Amino acid sequence: MKILISADMEGATGVTWPADVLPGTPQWERCRGMFTSDVNAAVQGFFDGGADEVLVNEAHWTMRNLLLEQLDERTEMLTGRHKALSMVEGVQHGDIDGIAFIGYHAGAGMEGVLAHTYLANQITGVWLNDVRASEGLLNAHVVAEYGVPVVLVTGDDVACEDALGYAPEALKVAVKDHVSRYAAVCRTPARTAADIRAAAKEAARLAVRHAPVEAGPFTVAVEFDAEHLAMAATVVPGVARVGERKVAYTSATMYEGIRTFKAVTTIVSSAVEEQYG
Ligand SMILES: [Zn+2]
Repeated sequence: MKILISADMEGATGVTWPADVLPGTPQWERCRGMFTSDVNAAVQGFFDGGADEVLVNEAHWTMRNLLLEQLDERTEMLTGRHKALSMVEGVQHGDIDGIAFIGYHAGAGMEGVLAHTYLANQITGVWLNDVRASEGLLNAHVVAEYGVPVVLVTGDDVACEDALGYAPEALKVAVKDHVSRYAAVCRTPARTAADIRAAAKEAARLAVRHAPVEAGPFTVAVEFDAEHLAMAATVVPGVARVGERKVAYTSATMYEGIRTFKAVTTIVSSAVEEQYG
C-alpha cells in the first residue's frame, strides 16, 4: 500500500495569520515545526495502519516549508515547485492507493481560517459545475480520475466540514476551531499529532484504488475582486469573460481543468496592483 500526502500549510496546527505561512518570516519559521508535526503524525499513522510507502508532496506556496530532517525516516518527500499536478503531484503514476489532504482550508469567499483558493484575496469565489469549490474539492476531482480515494483530511473545523462534501468517507481531524479569518481556538501540536496519527491509522483501511472516474466535462468559474484581473485571465486560451469580474472555461477532464486553473492564477497574480488609495 502506497499513500500520498498533499501537505498545505494554512490548515496546520497553530496557523491563523498570513505571516504564519509566508516564507522568510519568523512566524513561518516557528509554524513550519507545527506543520511538520502534523505531516509526520499522518506518516506514522499510515505506517501504523499497514502502509508500505508514504510519499509527501509539499503543496504550499513555494513548496519548501516542511522540515525533512524531522520526518519519519521511512517516508520520502517531494519538495519544490513546477509539478504537472501541483498540489497532488505524484498521484498520476498508478501506484497510489489513497491520498491525504493535510493542512487544508476552506475555499475563496468562504468563512474559515485563511480561507482562499490558490490566491490570497484576489479570488473571491470558484465554482466547479456550479458548486462552490475549495482546493480540496478541485483536487479531489483530479485524484478521482486516477482512481485514488481521499482517505484523510486535516485543517480547521470548516475545512473538515467542507470535506464532507467531496470526501464523505474520509477521516477528518480538526486541529483548530474557526473563530474568524485570522483567529481560531488551537490545540497543541502534541494533542493534534496524537489525533492525526490515530485517524491516519484508521484511514489506511480506506486506501483502496478504484476505477478511474470520468465525470467531465468540467466548467470552472472564477470570480475576482477587481475587473482588470478578469480581463487579464482571458489571455489563457479557452478562458472567457462571463461577468464584470468573472471568467469561466470548460475542460474535458480535471487534469486539464486544474492546469488551466493554475495558468489563470499565475497570470492573474502578475496583474495584481500595489496597495494605494
Ligand atoms: Zn497554502
